[in-house]
Amino acid sequence: MDLLIFGPQGAGKGTQAVRIGLEYNVPHIASGDMLRAAIAAGTDLGMRVKAVVESGVLVTDDLMIELIRDRLGADDAADGFVLDGFPRTMAQAEALDAMLDGIGRAIDVALVLQIDDATARDRLLKRAALEGRIDDTPEVIDTRLRTYHDETAPIIEWYRARDRLAPVDGTQDIEGVYAQIRQALDRAAQRSMTAGA
Ligand code: AMP
Repeated sequence: MDLLIFGPQGAGKGTQAVRIGLEYNVPHIASGDMLRAAIAAGTDLGMRVKAVVESGVLVTDDLMIELIRDRLGADDAADGFVLDGFPRTMAQAEALDAMLDGIGRAIDVALVLQIDDATARDRLLKRAALEGRIDDTPEVIDTRLRTYHDETAPIIEWYRARDRLAPVDGTQDIEGVYAQIRQALDRAAQRSMTAGA
């Protein structure tokens, strides 16, 4: 299954995506984790993106598309993936669809974890205290939430129009959110079986 997971920062995407990956046996591909790993390792890519990631704005589409194209070409993604943090702009969504179309695939489900900004901000500030992430300061959190609404939210309509959208109430606890995700994925599996029959 080729899956996407969306939601504002703090919606719990990473936690849920890890579980999905384990249960459905697909790699969890998190664009933010890839960038943070490159920064920590001090690679060329890491040095190029460090200041951008720290300020909470988006890395260029070309760079991200190239990074994800390479990653999706790896053997472990041959039967599916759960993409977390990509696409984040319309240009990225269009590039991803074209990439998949070229190999006869398409996104099966685009999960959207819905939470309001106040809850997101609250959770991110708690995470800042626990994990000390470089971009979890109050100012950067506000920039990231604004970027989500401006740049990323329009993509959700793109998948709604393609009948791939699965909205999930992200304010519930981890188990409650995961239960909704499973229902959405089960429905999608049934739909594709019916379509293939
Ligand atoms: P995340 O961990 O997904 O919140 O990503 C952390 C930061 O990495 C973001 O604030 C952006 O600076 C950068 N980033 C991650 N994914 C993307 C993407 N698909 N497009 C552009 N920038 C990204």
